Amino acid sequence: TTILAIESSCDDTSASVLMDGKILSNCVASQDAHRLYGGVVPEVASRAHQINIIPVVDLAIRQAGIKKTDLDAVAFTRGPGLMGSLIVGVAFAKSLALSLDIPLIEVNHMDAHVLAHFAEDPKPRFPFLCLTVSGGHTQIVKVDAPDQMEVLGQTLDDAAGEAFDKTGKLLGLEYPAGPIIDKLAQQGKPVYDFPEPRIPDLDFSFSGLKTSILYFLKEQIKEDPDFIQHHLNDICASVQDRIVSILLKRLRKAARRTGIKEIAIAGGVSANSALRSGLAEMGQKEGWQTCIPKFEYCTDNAAMIAVAGYFKYQAGQFTDQSVQPAARF
Ligand code: ATP
Ligand code: FE
Repeated sequence: TTILAIESSCDDTSASVLMDGKILSNCVASQDAHRLYGGVVPEVASRAHQINIIPVVDLAIRQAGIKKTDLDAVAFTRGPGLMGSLIVGVAFAKSLALSLDIPLIEVNHMDAHVLAHFAEDPKPRFPFLCLTVSGGHTQIVKVDAPDQMEVLGQTLDDAAGEAFDKTGKLLGLEYPAGPIIDKLAQQGKPVYDFPEPRIPDLDFSFSGLKTSILYFLKEQIKEDPDFIQHHLNDICASVQDRIVSILLKRLRKAARRTGIKEIAIAGGVSANSALRSGLAEMGQKEGWQTCIPKFEYCTDNAAMIAVAGYFKYQAGQFTDQSVQPAARF
């Protein structure tokens, strides 16, 4: 079975070819234009997808060493995401499937972030808990099977990735700030203590943290106008430390409550080095089997759409040509 997958939910255009469960190619065209604006501009993203989609799909097919006519199905991200971005990928997937006369498979982007773990060994065993931390979502998901997922807790406001990016904006860093904060934090110490939100149960909140950072910076700048420049590494280390501790404490609570010891992380923020090392450390203490995907499968990519699509292919779950993109589910 050979599947072509297309991902275009946000600002990355990606295509991947999977053959019998194995990823043969995973090509991503990233859009640099948004750096200028400090965030993703939907209209700009949509236009860039239109420019990128054919070259990226072409490259994925060539890198896989196959021909278009070898394809058995086309999988695509139906949502959630930016409508203008989704439209491009969905329209392209539908047209290609129609012209090759092969079936279509719709994939939920958040399910795909979780199922990215099955792109390579070692794979988590069911049931497992997955902390999905990305630019738009923060969720703890109980995964009983590829098509049986239950959200146990999620953010009530900002996502973890947004917390990184918005803090970065306050600090004058480029978008996306997550990887930059990660890097700067490695040269700093978490000497500033930011408050932990009081949110019941397994939910998250990050907007209060952002506000407290804003007020903290304002106060400090009164004393030292160059406070940020003088202490940037320590500020980054402190912010990152707090975000990671919020995430890991909730994850531990969920693990203890469900008794599940198979623990995974997914989404762009799972690329964060402090989260990775913190998870490994907590996992040792708690007796967890932890699973962290390779970096290229953490941020948006079509390989995860291919993997999720392959599960659906095997289950005979196809979509017809009437399918429309869905910004929200
Ligand atoms: P969603 O999947 O919710 O629709 P998205 O697809 O835009 O959102 P991803 O591509 O999964 O999100 O992740 C992007 C986010 O990951 C950004 O907020 C970025 O700052 C963050 N990120 C990437 N690398 C790191 C890192 N090393 N440390 C912290 N954050 C990071
Ligand atoms: Fe994503």
